[in-house]
Amino acid sequence: MSTQTDPQRMEKIVSLCKRRGFIFQSSEIYGGLNGVWDYGPLGAELKRNLKDYWWRVMVRERDDVVGLDGAILTHRAVLKASGHEDTFSDPMVDCRNCKARLRADQIGDKQQCPICGSKDLTEPRPFNLMFSTQVGASADPDSIAYLRPETAQSIFVQFKNVLDTSRKKLPFGIAQIGKAFRNEINPRNFTFRSREFEQMELEYFCRPEQGMELLEYWKEERLRFYENIGIPRAKLNVLTVPDEERAFYSKGTYDIEYEFPFGVQELEGVAYRTDYDLTQHQKASGKPLEYFDDETKQRFVPHVIEPSAGVDRTVLALICEAYAEDSAPDEKGKMETRIVLRFHPRIAPVKAAVFPLLKNKPELVTKAREVQQLLRPHMNVFYDEGGAIGRRYRRQDEIGTPFGITVDFETLGERGDELRDTVTVRERDSMKQDRVKISELLARLLPMIT
Ligand code: ATP
Repeated sequence: MSTQTDPQRMEKIVSLCKRRGFIFQSSEIYGGLNGVWDYGPLGAELKRNLKDYWWRVMVRERDDVVGLDGAILTHRAVLKASGHEDTFSDPMVDCRNCKARLRADQIGDKQQCPICGSKDLTEPRPFNLMFSTQVGASADPDSIAYLRPETAQSIFVQFKNVLDTSRKKLPFGIAQIGKAFRNEINPRNFTFRSREFEQMELEYFCRPEQGMELLEYWKEERLRFYENIGIPRAKLNVLTVPDEERAFYSKGTYDIEYEFPFGVQELEGVAYRTDYDLTQHQKASGKPLEYFDDETKQRFVPHVIEPSAGVDRTVLALICEAYAEDSAPDEKGKMETRIVLRFHPRIAPVKAAVFPLLKNKPELVTKAREVQQLLRPHMNVFYDEGGAIGRRYRRQDEIGTPFGITVDFETLGERGDELRDTVTVRERDSMKQDRVKISELLARLLPMIT
């Protein structure tokens, strides 16, 4: 695992994200809102593919996990009981000279401002990261609510309702994907640390004696997940969070980290949280949040394992991992630098692009549109008729489209019946081309993209 950073590579990635419509700064035309990002057409597809795949393997393909879609606005009492209102803070210092607000634990030399160099800093003080708001027309303190700082709490608060309605037996999990908000003191590294972001969280409830074993199980499952979306194991690091850095109620926590161009950083935490959350809510609400075991006739508060991943951080890791520069022949056969996003076809925003060889030949255009219509119900498929074919390939390489499909004179049967109704399929990474019957296209592509 390399600990070196590569700011130049990161700059190229950020610029590609903007140029090709993956990620834009939020409210950009008004100067931008710091720590907030909008996903453009391709970013929206990429993000959706990631979330859909997570939901598929974590919820739909399992008998022991059900989903939840909780509200963002959260009752103050929930976040009081969970401990967020009192302790969800980072240590902040102010620079009296340049007025910068800094996270005390991120300043190398704790006595000096990294922006202006001044040594005139305030003492560190806790800064609560939650965004609060008022619900309803009156502005009294009772109307305060928070934008949730994590999706997990609604899972704990709805534990009993989900248990009663789904009739699940331990061990079982409740999964959720959704927005979370943290007023980070120092948002940075592109989307890595944002103020508005999305999480994919599972709370997997179990008997106390199963906890440690399930912590290992979920760590391995989650590592496999990243490999299945194209992040190799060699670029992932599993950090065993040391006792002194772990939350007091946790019996074990792993951070799954990825080797970003700006350093090895956390993608996901897998934490064994014992019965802390349910017990807190049971105490504070006065409502039982226990599980009744039919066999042993025992009633107890289940323990929980929490794999908690960031959507935006994973999208960023996918883009960083995919970004490559190699060389490919230009129009005249001379080699030139090619920018290519080598996304796993499963998460690539566009799966295939269909090209008529020439746009002024109506039969080619009609046939290409037919091929697009054939694929469209099954995948996101582009149609592009503009410019030389090599340029069109290159445009798709840059956004990571794994397959380029060209309709040419062979397709129309002008070079003999043998090749009629076949197309060339060009693979993005190897650039190899292959002739495939249109009738066999779907069967060929579907296993690779699902
Ligand atoms: P960090 O130490 O980087 O602030 P954390 O340990 O506080 O993260 P958790 O509270 O464990 O993070 O949240 C679970 C996941 O949510 C993280 O692994 C990360 O992927 C994502 N996440 C948390 N904070 C942010 C943020 N500000 N921007 C983007 N993603 C975030």
